[in-house]
Amino acid sequence: PEKPQRPVSPPSAKRPAKRIIAVAAGKGGVGKSTVTANLAAAYAKQGLKVGVLDADVYGPSIPRLLGLRDVPGLQKTEAGIRPAEAHGIKVVSMGFLTKPGAAVVWRGPMVQGAITQFLNETVWDEPDVLLIDMPPGTGDAQLAIAQTAAVDGAVIAVTPQDLALDDARKAMAMFQQTHTPILGLIENMSVFLCPHCGEPSEIFGHGGARAEAEAMGVPFLGEIPLHIDLRKRSDEGRPVAFDEGPVSAAFARLADSVLA
Ligand code: ADP
Repeated sequence: PEKPQRPVSPPSAKRPAKRIIAVAAGKGGVGKSTVTANLAAAYAKQGLKVGVLDADVYGPSIPRLLGLRDVPGLQKTEAGIRPAEAHGIKVVSMGFLTKPGAAVVWRGPMVQGAITQFLNETVWDEPDVLLIDMPPGTGDAQLAIAQTAAVDGAVIAVTPQDLALDDARKAMAMFQQTHTPILGLIENMSVFLCPHCGEPSEIFGHGGARAEAEAMGVPFLGEIPLHIDLRKRSDEGRPVAFDEGPVSAAFARLADSVLA
């Protein structure tokens, strides 16, 4: 079979953003979308121009996380696709193309087509950072995206529960196949922070992702605590990274190490 090539845009082609970063996970439920939304918020808080492309065809949750539940759909103007905007962050989502609650069964090439349009035809207005919320896993759709978007690097979210991190390894192998640089691992739901006393508890253990990253020879980018505010703020559509406090500080550090 033909080996997938690293996507190269012709030198004349305009890149949609200064930096394009894919946020991936080997499986669902590790908090990949939560991390994406809060990273976007952390960059916006720093004064950077930020875009988010929600490519999670199976469960596009970026609109909800950023409070864009009632966006009617995407408008196409003469200049291109007009992105939705939340808290200063420009957003396009696979969720804007489907009815809420509708199950999506898209094949790789269809996903690839939609992503290409989102990347090239959205009026992004040259963001400093464009985050792509990847679908979880390593199937056709994921590979299609990795091949389509000339991403500068991928970050992989894991939780301390998957100590073996088999799924994360598969995700990494996929990016390696498409010659996408792997920026490193992020440990989400790391230490539980009690919302009342602030006391940390290592419910699922701690430090596993850091050790795994070392074993795999990729950087460890940082850890995000398990905190009720992350879930609450997500439900309210305003990422906790906009607030002040330990969770927000963790995202600020993570945001820096992703771009370092
Ligand atoms: P994924 O995109 O990997 O499927 P989500 O980002 O949708 O996962 O997160 C799954 C659930 O876990 C959501 O309800 C989210 O609010 C919650 N969650 C994610 N990360 C954290 C965290 N660090 N602390 C508390 N809740 C979290």
